[in-house]
Amino acid sequence: MDTKDRKEAKESDRVQCCIVGGGPAGVMAGFLLARQGVGVLVLEKHRDFFRDFRGDTIHPSTLELMSELGLLDEFLRQKHSEMREITVHFGPDVVHIADLRHLPTKCKFVAFMPQWDFLNFLSSHAKQYPNFRLRMETEVTELLFENDRVIGVRAKTQDGTLELRADLVIGADGRSSIVRERAGLEVIDLGAPIDVLWFRLSKKASDPPQSFGFVGTGQFMVLIDRDDYWQCAYVIRKGSLAGIRERGLEAFCDEIGRCAPFLSNRTGEVRQWDDVKLLNVKVDHLKKWHREGLLCIGDAAHAMSPVGGVGINLAIQDAVATANLLAAKLESGRIEEADLETVQKRRARAAQLTQRVQIFLHEHFLEAIFDSSEPISPPLPMRMLEKYPRLRRLPARIVGVGFRPEHIGPHHAFPKEEARGGN
Ligand SMILES: Cc1cc2nc3c(=O)[nH]c(=O)nc-3n(C[C@H](O)[C@H](O)[C@H](O)COP(=O)(O)OP(=O)(O)OC[C@H]3O[C@@H](n4cnc5c(N)ncnc54)[C@H](O)[C@@H]3O)c2cc1C
Repeated sequence: MDTKDRKEAKESDRVQCCIVGGGPAGVMAGFLLARQGVGVLVLEKHRDFFRDFRGDTIHPSTLELMSELGLLDEFLRQKHSEMREITVHFGPDVVHIADLRHLPTKCKFVAFMPQWDFLNFLSSHAKQYPNFRLRMETEVTELLFENDRVIGVRAKTQDGTLELRADLVIGADGRSSIVRERAGLEVIDLGAPIDVLWFRLSKKASDPPQSFGFVGTGQFMVLIDRDDYWQCAYVIRKGSLAGIRERGLEAFCDEIGRCAPFLSNRTGEVRQWDDVKLLNVKVDHLKKWHREGLLCIGDAAHAMSPVGGVGINLAIQDAVATANLLAAKLESGRIEEADLETVQKRRARAAQLTQRVQIFLHEHFLEAIFDSSEPISPPLPMRMLEKYPRLRRLPARIVGVGFRPEHIGPHHAFPKEEARGGN
């Protein structure tokens, strides 16, 4: 950072809203608040958005929001693939789980786009508002308090420590949130019996189209189409990685080939254990998402399992509700804890209902798979979905839209060129 930048950092050490975490919740909340005229600074600990362990799903409800923001056409011009049906392979049998083609949304598909592209897209639009700032490589380490109210954050940067004061701090720092921990917010841990092994394998022209899951004997794997390769999410019992590693890399590669046989000719592309990342899955929620001066949203408020691929949608919906409910309050000056409570009241039920569905699937679908020593056939609810196509509209609704879809609220007319320089 040169002297000029240092000076700018010093001058901008007070903002209306400081958002910790540049994931889907943080970037979307920053964008929408800035669009409403609020001075926002998003702090992200990484140098860029390029981390391949992020989910890639952009749900129909998020696409609806893009449309409400007038960005849908441009968004769909970005490289992406579209999934209109969700299927699970049980050995040679393919079961149709969800049919998104009947959703009451403009886009009747889940768009798959690498999350770094999605976040770059959102942040590039947010940056058109001069009152939006995104600061990368800035890791929040502490909250600042005054009389029990959160009044800002302390962060580690390349150039030392940054102390920043804010009328409101939003914790959008994901499932290992330091913000919620430092704020002493009580976490209700719902438990997750799974972790995910994350690795990539090349894609070939002859491969089956984007699907969802592959069930093998005691195995479940999800494949995400990233154009020239498959991002593989191999679901394991929590804590079982040590045993898998003990059996050796070759045995692991054979296991993958048994789960999705079309991949067996390339599992050798996993050359070392370093190519396989362990992603720790948590399902929890905060009893209270807020305290004076602080609100948590997204995974920081309710860590989601990857099951169903809905966590990004919920994070985005929280961000929309936050902007709708709080922008005017932030603009008017001091924001009260009761204002923050309105966000939890609006969003907590949708998050908890979704978590219940995820836990049901952990207990009744994944546990049954892990417990089986023989190929299993689709469970009864899945057989019903296969037999009665109309039933597939319900899971499509849960995955594609969620329990309480939000809409972009009225815009307080802060066009980009006139937006306040709140930072
Ligand atoms: C293995 C796995 C696969 C998943 N796949 C999918 C999927 O396909 N589809 C889906 O919808 N959901 C998926 N999920 C769930 C989804 O990833 C989350 O629900 C979603 O990312 C939550 O968004 P968020 O913005 O709240 O948090 P995150 O996406 O976790 O973003 C938090 C951000 O905060 C930053 N940060 C953290 N700490 C600090 C700090 N101290 N200071 C500054 N910045 C910080 C992080 O670098 C990160 O950028 C998956 C989850 C797992 C575990």
